[in-house]
Amino acid sequence: MEYFPIFLSLKQQPCLVVGAGEIAARKIELLLRAQAKVTVIAPEANATLIKKANDGIIKYQKKHFEAHDLTNFKLVVAATDADEINRLVSETAMQQQTPVNVVDRTDLCSFIFPAIIDRSPIIAAVSSGGASPVLARLIRSRLESLIPAAYGRLAQLAEKYRPTVKQTIHSIGQRRIFWEKVLQGPIAELVFSGQEHQAEQQLIHLLQQQQPSEQGEVYLVGAGPGDPDLLTFRALRLMQPADVVVYDRLVSPQVLDLVRRDAEKIYVGKQRDNHSLPQESINDLLARLASSGKRVVRLKGGDPFIFGRGGEEIETLMQQNIHFQIVPGITAASGCASYAGIPLTHRDHAQSCTFVTGHLKDNAINLNWDQLATPNQTIVIYMGLVGLKQICQSLINHGSPPDLPAAIIQQGTTSNQQVVTGTLSTIATLAQQHQLSAPTLIIIGTVVSLRKQLTWFSP
Ligand code: SAH
Repeated sequence: MEYFPIFLSLKQQPCLVVGAGEIAARKIELLLRAQAKVTVIAPEANATLIKKANDGIIKYQKKHFEAHDLTNFKLVVAATDADEINRLVSETAMQQQTPVNVVDRTDLCSFIFPAIIDRSPIIAAVSSGGASPVLARLIRSRLESLIPAAYGRLAQLAEKYRPTVKQTIHSIGQRRIFWEKVLQGPIAELVFSGQEHQAEQQLIHLLQQQQPSEQGEVYLVGAGPGDPDLLTFRALRLMQPADVVVYDRLVSPQVLDLVRRDAEKIYVGKQRDNHSLPQESINDLLARLASSGKRVVRLKGGDPFIFGRGGEEIETLMQQNIHFQIVPGITAASGCASYAGIPLTHRDHAQSCTFVTGHLKDNAINLNWDQLATPNQTIVIYMGLVGLKQICQSLINHGSPPDLPAAIIQQGTTSNQQVVTGTLSTIATLAQQHQLSAPTLIIIGTVVSLRKQLTWFSP
């Protein structure tokens, strides 16, 4: 171990920063966050720094650093672009055995700054020992996504109840089990979703019972349109400790890969006219799994509340008093539009955007055609491939121009994404010619014509 990691209290402690450039400013901010009393020495300083000095937040000495300036500081940082000054700060501090950091000069440092994840009171620090600060930052950003911002609040809750729990549960082992339940289970999830009051109530209840609740939970998680990068942090966090994952056809294999390896995976895939498991059975399955104490992740393509029948699934859970949470996901419309380079609204083209289902019921598509044929809007059609010809014809019959631009996006956001563009009168034939198959999303409106001008689209 090249460096020994410690967490140092700098509360009200005098610290010196030599230099007042951009990097110095970042170090000053950091020291202020740790509630240090910061003195800055530099011949020049920008307006922000001078304001901080005028407001009494820092002390500023407008001068070049000299060795005798270094008196009684608990910690020193040099961040100037003058090598001789950096060296002088380092040598003086080392003589006085004051911890010193010279930015980007590990050889002149007695301590180095780690990359920090601040979820106060939880703080995680990562260091590469100066070998590769960029790598340390990359690791930090991975940790950032694993440690939700709300962990700070969770730690505060634990801190608040620590003495009470200690008084109530005497065995250290039992206490550890209690805290593990609180910090990893439904109580923690309540804190993460901002329901601290309920979390406290449950914690108190659990403490009174002194034994954990045996009922599981269901997380209705939006898995996004395919690209695993489009998962939310919360989705990922709930997928990792899951006991069971119930998923369907729209959930991409790459997303499924992120589920805990040994979690049970149940496919309830739905294909057009070939529902492997009827909706009622899925609802019952979720309730049954949760009642047996399992943590169930119900992974759904896109967003659970957009043509996802999420509402029906939670109804059963509510009837049976089973805890559940809903995690929104990026819906196919947002994902496909971005990845195809088609904005869904645009000042000059569309002031509204309507999501409709093109699903045929008794061989008919019952939509409000008059409203959909009104200009200056975008129509996004989910499940519309089979009825596409009928949809286009109905729009034309109700006054939409036959040359209104339209696009079909197949397997949007995945590496198999295909985009075909045409007009109301050509798109159905084009879809057949390109042999497109589900899942496909259809976008109709003049915004589709912007695709050519836009350069951000991938892949
Ligand atoms: N809840 C989902 C939609 C479920 S309905 C969501 O919010 O996205 C299923 C339909 O969504 C498919 O028939 C298709 O129209 C659309 N869809 C979902 N993922 C898609 C993708 N990656 N590419 C194109 N269309 C997609």
